Order: sequence, then structure tokens, then C-alpha cells
Amino acid sequence: MHEYSVVQALLEQIEKIAEENNATKVSKITTKIGIMSGIEAHLLELAFNTFKEKTICDGAEFIMNIQPIKVHCNECEKESELEKIHYCCPVCGSIDIKVIDGEEMYLMNLEME
Ligand SMILES: [Zn+2]
Repeated sequence: MHEYSVVQALLEQIEKIAEENNATKVSKITTKIGIMSGIEAHLLELAFNTFKEKTICDGAEFIMNIQPIKVHCNECEKESELEKIHYCCPVCGSIDIKVIDGEEMYLMNLEME
């Protein structure tokens, strides 16, 4: 399952950050999941709960914020959020757009002790 490898990478990233900050415990993890990332939120949570044991993240609160697709239009210079995947600017209809958010999963915030 895709989510398992995502969580393993996330846990590694968190442990590295915790180590750099001399933290012994992580109390809250906030992530942002792009709807285009292909990650299923409930599967991610399940994977997290499976892998967190014996890591610094055991007992941490796991927050997932779903991020819609955000695009920047090169034609009218406006930024928009797209409800559906129909790559064109909802303001002017141009297809000359750049996706600036919503494609990946990001670690947004960590609360450590
Ligand atoms: Zn536009």
C-alpha cells in the first residue's frame, strides 16, 4: 500500500527533526495532503497508527488537512483553488496555468517536548 511507504518516510523525517531539536517526544503532527497526491486520508491514518509504535511519535496527535489543487494562471495572474481536476483557470478560462499546491503531502508542523 502506497500509504505505508509514505508514513515510513514521514516518520523518518520526523525522527530526524526531533533529533536535531533534542526532543524526546512528539505530541502533535500536522500534515497537509494534496488531493492530487493519491493518498487516502483514512489509509494514511491507519498506516500511521500501525507504524508509530516504538517511535518518537507514539501517542502523538495526527492532524491531516486536505489541500485542494491550487493553481496560478499565467494569463490573468490570479490564483485559484480547483474543486475538480480540469486544469484550466476558473477566472479567465486559460489553460496556461501552473499547479502550485495540492499535489503532494507535506509536513506542516510538529509539536515536540
Ligand atoms: Zn486566468
